[in-house]
Amino acid sequence: MMSPRPLTDFSRLCVHTATTKPWNIETAMDRYAKAGIAGITVWRDTLEGRDPNTVGRQLADSGLEVVSLCRGGFFPALSEAKRREAIDDNRRAIEEASAIGAPMIVLVCGAAIGQSLEDSRSQIVDGIAAILPEAEAAGIKLAIEPLHPMYADDRSAINTMAQAHEACDRLDHPLVGIAVDVYHVWWDDTLPRQIQNTGELDRLFAFHICDWMTPTRHLLTDRGLMGEGCIDLPGIRAMVEATGFTGFNEVEIFSTRWWESDQDEFLEKVKETYLRHT
Ligand code: ZN
Repeated sequence: MMSPRPLTDFSRLCVHTATTKPWNIETAMDRYAKAGIAGITVWRDTLEGRDPNTVGRQLADSGLEVVSLCRGGFFPALSEAKRREAIDDNRRAIEEASAIGAPMIVLVCGAAIGQSLEDSRSQIVDGIAAILPEAEAAGIKLAIEPLHPMYADDRSAINTMAQAHEACDRLDHPLVGIAVDVYHVWWDDTLPRQIQNTGELDRLFAFHICDWMTPTRHLLTDRGLMGEGCIDLPGIRAMVEATGFTGFNEVEIFSTRWWESDQDEFLEKVKETYLRHT
């Protein structure tokens, strides 16, 4: 297994606001900046009830680099009306990303129970194609995040790196690429080749880290802190960096267990395990 150069500082550390879910956006940006963390990925729920332009100014003042907006997607639906609603919502996401200074939107692509995964995948490609003009006008990248197959029923019909590549091939656009999240793809025996392909095709847009707990007690909210689980984080980081990727290592941990803990102490643990186990 490859081993990457050790991480020695926080210049490439980005934290997702969902990782510290109990904090609102103002607290998150304040604490991340004070902790010396370089980047922030903003989840859309933190913008509710706020003017995204105001949040954008606060983020600019914080000194944090805004890495991405999470999340767009959820394109498939049984009715055309619902698919149109999803496209409109993604257009709003592009406006929000522009307002907060995020150069990229991460797409959790969606799936609809009642139709085949193949049909859902076609609707995903159509949905992304529909918002590409707005993405182009705003210069916003769209990162398709393959989700673990346990989410194939209603969260994403794109479950492997190969399927993400296929969607990118069909769209064939420089603003469309892939977000590699270790939680979703660590088990895939073709991962080395798939990651290498993202590099060759200039498609590696984002790298998300956390760990896989054994046993996993909840499908959505039992992710581990780096080093708590079974994912070979240094090995996957080595593959990612071998492509020439110099972007952020984004910590994305949905964990009821950690959300119930003191968030300042948790953030210190994030920093510590980032250096030690990533
Ligand atoms: Zn992710």
